[in-house]
Amino acid sequence: MSNYADLKPDFSKGLLTVILQHYTNKEVRMVGYMNEEAFELTKQEKVAWFYSRSKERLWKKGESSGNVQYVKDMYLDCDQDALLILVDPAGPTCHTGTNSCFNLESSFTLKDIEATIRERAESSDDESYTNYLLSKGTDKIAKKFGEEAFEVVIGAKNKNKEEIANETADVLYHLGVLLHDSGVSVSDVESVLSARHNKQNNFKGERKDIQKW
Ligand code: AMP
Ligand code: ZN
Ligand code: ZN
Ligand code: ZN
Repeated sequence: MSNYADLKPDFSKGLLTVILQHYTNKEVRMVGYMNEEAFELTKQEKVAWFYSRSKERLWKKGESSGNVQYVKDMYLDCDQDALLILVDPAGPTCHTGTNSCFNLESSFTLKDIEATIRERAESSDDESYTNYLLSKGTDKIAKKFGEEAFEVVIGAKNKNKEEIANETADVLYHLGVLLHDSGVSVSDVESVLSARHNKQNNFKGERKDIQKW
């Protein structure tokens, strides 16, 4: 986390190039430009402001659509003429209605589920099903996870693709709640997977050596 209040962009060569990136899934959302005023407004209001080169005026992203881009963090590049903003978008970032201005394959990972579950838990919102499950404790959460896993098994036996997709979504969500309840992060799981992956590659390497003989 940078202390972006202290950032000093270099406006001497003109406008600052700005990249918006989603703060959790790291999707690149859009590129725009800021003059000094847009940068100051962005810092003050903690939502992204730009200088529109076509309209030749300051422009608050979301001023008409409502899709403001909340600033989570900001970083300058090595020579202070480009700014990376990590944002929590209120809605799609592109005016065409897509999340990103770039035609990206959308990705949805266990880390997104983890982030959403963490947000719910921190909000202590009583209406949230996540908080209901967390309040019931480990046995209830583990039981739900097991039931959903069994529903995937049934879907597979039925060869019903829609059922499998739905139940898999339930499995991933309940797995996320189980991990949160257990204090295990998705990064912990990634470490195990990458260690196994490396071991496998080493093993393949050794086999090649053996084959040479
Ligand atoms: P908004 O800022 O979302 O209320 O959109 C207002 C206007 O700003 C749009 O009609 C576009 O002209 C422009 N605009 C919005 N989003 C983008 C974007 N991601 N890239 C370029 N122009 C945009
Ligand atoms: Zn630069
Ligand atoms: Zn766009
Ligand atoms: Zn289910």
